[in-house]
Amino acid sequence: MTQPTQTLQADVVIAGSGPGGATMALEMSRKGKKVVLCEAGKYHQHLGSNTFMLLGMMDNMGLTFSKEGTWVIRPKTAGGASVVYCGTAVRPPPWLKEKYGIDLDEEVDELYKEIPIQKLPDHLVGPAAQRIMQAARDVGHDWDLIDKWIRPEKCKQNCGKCSLGCPTGAKWTAREYIEEARANGAQLLLKTKVDKVLTESGKAVGVRAKGPQGWMDILAETVILSAGGQGTPPILQRSGVYDAGQGFFADPLWLVAGRSDIQGSMYDIPMTAGMHLEEDGIMMTDLMTPPTMYVSCLAFAGKKGWASLPKAIHARKTLSIMIKVRDSLEGRINLDETFSKPIDYDTWWRLNKGAVLAEEILQKAGVKRDDLVTTAVMAAHPGGTVRIGELLDKDCQTPIQNCYCMDTTIIPEPWGLPPTVTVVAMAKRLAKHLTVPAEAKVAAQEPA
Ligand SMILES: Cc1cc2nc3c(=O)[nH]c(=O)nc-3n(C[C@H](O)[C@H](O)[C@H](O)COP(=O)(O)OP(=O)(O)OC[C@H]3O[C@@H](n4cnc5c(N)ncnc54)[C@H](O)[C@@H]3O)c2cc1C
Repeated sequence: MTQPTQTLQADVVIAGSGPGGATMALEMSRKGKKVVLCEAGKYHQHLGSNTFMLLGMMDNMGLTFSKEGTWVIRPKTAGGASVVYCGTAVRPPPWLKEKYGIDLDEEVDELYKEIPIQKLPDHLVGPAAQRIMQAARDVGHDWDLIDKWIRPEKCKQNCGKCSLGCPTGAKWTAREYIEEARANGAQLLLKTKVDKVLTESGKAVGVRAKGPQGWMDILAETVILSAGGQGTPPILQRSGVYDAGQGFFADPLWLVAGRSDIQGSMYDIPMTAGMHLEEDGIMMTDLMTPPTMYVSCLAFAGKKGWASLPKAIHARKTLSIMIKVRDSLEGRINLDETFSKPIDYDTWWRLNKGAVLAEEILQKAGVKRDDLVTTAVMAAHPGGTVRIGELLDKDCQTPIQNCYCMDTTIIPEPWGLPPTVTVVAMAKRLAKHLTVPAEAKVAAQEPA
């Protein structure tokens, strides 16, 4: 190993500045801790400008595929995937409390008030979302508005640029927490990739990372790994936790879309409204990708997709429904960040059932049967790679003492719903745990 040229000292060092890492940075800096936040990506500017700028924020210009060919979008920028996410908020799964004893009610309530998280007001429900909602209700579904991390007063009608990185600042992203943490004294190191955890007698004492000036050691009594579902496992593997990254879910999705006679879904806030078929593990919402990505989504769907490419000309008038489904844990993240994600029989069943329902809704909304297209299968929520109850304890501590995970890796089971509220609430909970004075922890454990 190359010798580090620099050594930094902190109380807490964090790998990755997505929702998990940024929340940890904020909460620990609020408690007066000296925080160093390492982010492998840059601080991309000009959010919301165009698809090329969006691809610049992605690992490998957005072209990351599983060994089996599934397209998994992996943002690499300050703020992580929250910069391009759709801003949909879903409360944590009930089984986290029932089965794992993790109660996030207090943190979630705190979060809902703080942002605030709410449904969109009528004037921000675009024409395509309205048409789809009405059609879904007409065919008998409970299709309703969804909670969003979006501040209506800052949002612009017919903008539709949430996934390009919101240009108006209406959508909450982890960058807000990063900036507040920096104002509290936290240090953000960009283009700095954490390689491994440094240990002494089984305890974490810091991390080794590579930044623009070369290798460095950042020494700290607490290490937080928040490099995301795909980024955290290689760090742990390199630190001797070889089972990290064995099994993961990615919540596969595809779009069913078709030309209509009104302004299309691309001008709406994605995921304005939808429904969740809990037993089937299917979530369906209105959603259209930015236009250049839509072409890729069709092109990556094989021969059938190529044949439907001419229909992309009508993208501006296209109504589109996303079907996102609960996944299995089949798959693996490798040390070199390549990965395998087979889509199993049950997952295909869910994708197909969702597509049938979407076709029915879109036809009710006025799309002709012959104009319907289905895109390639993609995924955007990789997680469950270092699961609570297996490699992590209830407080998300890894087998290395004082080294914690805090990102989508921790989610113990495939869930199939957007995970950001859960990750941020879990981070708030961990920060409380880490900053409670030792005497209070002992008192809490003693019988009354
Ligand atoms: C297009 C899209 C739409 C989405 N929509 C929604 C939605 O509406 N609602 C929702 O809840 N979720 C949504 N998600 C998912 C959500 O954005 C992610 O689940 C969430 O951002 C995960 O947070 P995280 O803390 O795990 O880290 P991530 O956001 O994955 O961030 C990890 C960060 O770590 C950095 N990193 C990686 N390796 C290293 C390393 N070795 N050292 C240092 N840094 C490293 C990466 O560059 C990245 O910035 C969406 C995702 C995508 C891609």
